[in-house]
Amino acid sequence: MTNSFIELDGSHGEGGGQILRSALSLSMITGIPFRIERIRAKRQKPGLLRQHLTAVNAAAQICGAQLKGAEPGSLQLEFVPGPIQGGQYQHAIGSAGSCTLVLQTVLPALWFANTPSSFTINGGTHNPAAPPADFLQAAWLPLLRRMGIDMKLEVLRHGFYPAGGGGLRVELTPVQALQPLHLQSQGRPKSAHATAIVAAVTNNVAQRELLTLQDELSSELGEIGRVVRALSSREGPGNALLLALDYGDFHEVFTAFGEKGIAAEKVASDLAQEVRQHLASGVNVGEYLADQLLLPMALAGGGSFATSVASDHLRTNIAVIEKFLEVEIDVKPIDSAYYVSIIGEAWRYNGMTQ
Ligand code: ATP
Repeated sequence: MTNSFIELDGSHGEGGGQILRSALSLSMITGIPFRIERIRAKRQKPGLLRQHLTAVNAAAQICGAQLKGAEPGSLQLEFVPGPIQGGQYQHAIGSAGSCTLVLQTVLPALWFANTPSSFTINGGTHNPAAPPADFLQAAWLPLLRRMGIDMKLEVLRHGFYPAGGGGLRVELTPVQALQPLHLQSQGRPKSAHATAIVAAVTNNVAQRELLTLQDELSSELGEIGRVVRALSSREGPGNALLLALDYGDFHEVFTAFGEKGIAAEKVASDLAQEVRQHLASGVNVGEYLADQLLLPMALAGGGSFATSVASDHLRTNIAVIEKFLEVEIDVKPIDSAYYVSIIGEAWRYNGMTQ
């Protein structure tokens, strides 16, 4: 029996690349084909950029999909998936496009493959407006592990915007079904750890960022663990400042990027401001982790957490997920935060893969 196409409007809600990425993941898993028009209509450069095209081609390779419209700049795409095939995959974005966003597109399908897989991707590993590789390692992956996913992420080489040139490799073992995950909503962080990454940028910048962050967040967080990760200058130029909050049952990670002409103190101060806002919200899942938990929780058929921001990104992602899966995702305002709950049927490996 052939499934009928799901029709998607890429200008819906937030109108960015997430509509396409979530549709690709879910189409591969469910076997339901989709058509999307007006891809990334609300972005400055609409259509398929290298990052999206790499995700489309990698997804198509993994499930032997038939494609129409997979060209640079294309505003439309038709994707007809076949069976998911685990294995060894390697792709290069060819720009500083985000490796982590490509990974988040294809990995969910490989969780339900017939064999273990490895996926290597080259491009940007630490980009503004995407999860840095450290975020996946410290915040996203440990939560997926609790849902039953055995997956390891290695940074082969850092790649910063705009040069790129980084590499990530993931190795994973498939599962029959994911376990639901319910996160404790409140509580103060037990400890905080900051990392300043520098490549072809002086150590002094890293030290100043860490000291400013400590100064600005002392009253909220007490003593912050502080580490400089000084990379080979060949991996630069690049500078990222990360703060991980340990909530006991998981970590949240906040990131700021250094830029030429912006003082180290300003980079740290902006990050401190973001963290202060998060702490003041009284709940512990931040805006970004919230939208990245939706898809795994929907596949598990259950999950819940409280988050400080119900972004357009979150709501747009919910709309796409509900088109493909038998789940209901509810976002309820409570005080100054939002309680997100997911109820439905867990997706099970259905033996359709070869
Ligand atoms: P595109 O630019 O490809 O159209 P998009 O519009 O979907 O992509 P965004 O809405 O900016 O891009 O978000 C991409 C993803 O990156 C989201 O899932 C968001 O949670 C995540 N993200 C952005 N910034 C961070 C950050 N600092 N830490 C963790 N995750 C982040």
